[in-house]
Amino acid sequence: MTGVKMKLSPEVVGLLVCPCCGSRLRDAERSLACTGSVCGVSFPVIDGIPVLLNESNSLFRFSDFSAGTDTFYRKASRGRIKRSLTRLIPDCSLNVKAAENYKRLADELRKGAQTPRILVLGGSVFNRGMEFLLGDAFELIETDVSFGTRTQAIVDGHNIPFEDNCLDGVVVHAVLEHVLDPVRCVSEIHRVLKPDGLVYAETPFIQQVHAGPYDFTRFTHLGHRRLFRHFEEIDSGAACGSGMALAWSYRHFLTSFSTHPKVRSLLTAFAHLTAFWLKWFDRHLIDKPGCLDAASGVYFLGRKSTTALADRDLIKGYRGAIALLKPRA
Ligand SMILES: [Zn+2]
Repeated sequence: MTGVKMKLSPEVVGLLVCPCCGSRLRDAERSLACTGSVCGVSFPVIDGIPVLLNESNSLFRFSDFSAGTDTFYRKASRGRIKRSLTRLIPDCSLNVKAAENYKRLADELRKGAQTPRILVLGGSVFNRGMEFLLGDAFELIETDVSFGTRTQAIVDGHNIPFEDNCLDGVVVHAVLEHVLDPVRCVSEIHRVLKPDGLVYAETPFIQQVHAGPYDFTRFTHLGHRRLFRHFEEIDSGAACGSGMALAWSYRHFLTSFSTHPKVRSLLTAFAHLTAFWLKWFDRHLIDKPGCLDAASGVYFLGRKSTTALADRDLIKGYRGAIALLKPRA
């Protein structure tokens, strides 16, 4: 097998296809090679992690990944050090719903398959609540566009390198704001899921730019629902509430006064010290209609469908607080 031990299981490697043309891949010297007669791209395998990119449809290049390092991850590493320092003071963020939602996802997945196989996009870091997907009951395929401690394959959601209808679940948590074409990515998620496969997505709504240049889009609750219109909804709503959104806005109001990194760090620390308590209101607010209109982030749990939610039905699903504008049934 490619001369190195792959982090993906052999069964999962058997499900991989070329992200450029969809042809099967074959083992080659320290790489996986496309068997397509026209394409023939060779995908490097670095420290057991295949780099499965379609360069013509991605912000990333093979050359961004060499010897187990990448530009994006180095930036993220600095962020983590900074985060460890700021761990000394209270945080402004609180995900109220993640744990309960991942538990529900795990319960639903167990109903459908013996050992459900779950693709995690953006899986180089472990999101709160994902502990419900750990253990022998599930097979996690953790992918990202960076080498994190958990990355098993470099995958860009615009071209997911799996064959059609082969996965039981997909988790896409805090990822869709970072992709150039969320519609394309969700279409790919739909393609690789088995019939009745499940998706769990969390995406920011009221949040300031993070990850620097790799941040493009935000979604309202209904905007997010429309993105997943080829899925039947199991549950959706606000995951992070208006208290967190207000704390973030306050923090970014303060940091907008300066571009100096040290000054911004001090202002961030000050904001956290003086506004951390706002997030506690989210435990009370999270399911309220007004909070859905002002949430820091929204979630969607759904099942792959062969039909699409009509736009007239989409707006009937508005659950916010602006009563006068609610469409008639
Ligand atoms: Zn190919």
